[in-house]
Amino acid sequence: MRILVTGAAGFLGSHLCDRLLREGHEVVGMDNFITGRPQNLAHLAGHPRFSFIRHDVSNFIFVPGKLDAVLHFASPASPNAHSPYGYVNLPIQTMKAGALGTHNTLGVARANKARFLLASTSEIYGDPLEHPQKETYWGHVDPNGLRSVYDEAKRFAEALTMAYHRFHGIDTRIVRIFNTYGPRMQVDDGRVVPNFLKQAICQEPLTVYGDGSQTRSFCYVDDLIEGIYRLLLSDEHNPVNIGNPQETTILEFAHIINRLTGNPAGIVYKASLRSEGDPQRRQPDITRARQILGWEPQVGLEEGLMRTIPYFKQELGKE
Ligand code: NAD
Ligand code: UDP
Repeated sequence: MRILVTGAAGFLGSHLCDRLLREGHEVVGMDNFITGRPQNLAHLAGHPRFSFIRHDVSNFIFVPGKLDAVLHFASPASPNAHSPYGYVNLPIQTMKAGALGTHNTLGVARANKARFLLASTSEIYGDPLEHPQKETYWGHVDPNGLRSVYDEAKRFAEALTMAYHRFHGIDTRIVRIFNTYGPRMQVDDGRVVPNFLKQAICQEPLTVYGDGSQTRSFCYVDDLIEGIYRLLLSDEHNPVNIGNPQETTILEFAHIINRLTGNPAGIVYKASLRSEGDPQRRQPDITRARQILGWEPQVGLEEGLMRTIPYFKQELGKE
């Protein structure tokens, strides 16, 4: 297949490009580097089946030549207001990438009669009242809070994707991605894995927001990409959760990271982000992915972190 990947210079997009190229496909990457970086694709320079277009997906997209699939991953993804990459600090760009970017990429898929895959998110469940989260849950989302620029853009993107599927007959897929981590995340991304690993490697206390009782379920990037690739090849049009159901509190997570890195500096508690809509519990129900894709994660939390730590050490010059 000849495949367009938007958000190609980001954390997930770059791993996705690698996987698609390994499977023998031709990949056209697109990115405007608002939260991603050229280094994530540097190893693909000169690859005979890879090309790159620097472009903002919020504007009309033109890709020369026939495409067989369009994978829309372009969007800021970190909620952290202390990071320059946090979507709270890029509110309009985030809404445009989710809304106009999804419209434009669906248009490209339609013009090419190509398959379309949307990178959606567990955030569409908001601060969930159901636990774990099944795809049938409609969510508990603040429509105008700080996180709404991301959550509502992704909800709109899902609705538009299904509209193109139902009305135009586009062959669409929707993956709801739960917290994923691994090499190529930006050190200053602001999400909890980069923050904690950077602090631990620099032997600083880890900043736990609130009392750390909020939970997340962390998926290693290779597992996620495997699930997405299987979804792309499947015939499933309904949303599918892809994530690791191994749930941990943020406090436990901080202790694990300090143990794995030998950080003696402990933790420090910071103001809770509860008022900013920080979800209190998050865990994917992956029954649908197991049944439809025969997929489940293979990499446990500690193993995934051990695979990720060398990358952060290198980025921080602390090898
Ligand atoms: P990332 O910030 O590393 O990658 C996003 C990429 O999109 C960046 O390279 C950025 O420059 C690019 N981009 C943003 N707006 C753009 C625009 N208007 N035009 C062109 N490029 C643009 O984040 P990520 O973690 O790799 O996330 C990728 C996708 O996966 C996002 O859509 C995100 O919502 C989704 N997602 C990620 C996670 C996760 O845990 N990593 C969880 C849920 C959903
Ligand atoms: N968090 C934290 N310390 C940090 C960064 C994040 O305690 O330095 C918490 C945050 O409050 C949230 C969880 O870790 O409860 C996951 O945050 P992240 O920014 O990774 O993304 P989210 O899962 O909220 O989208």
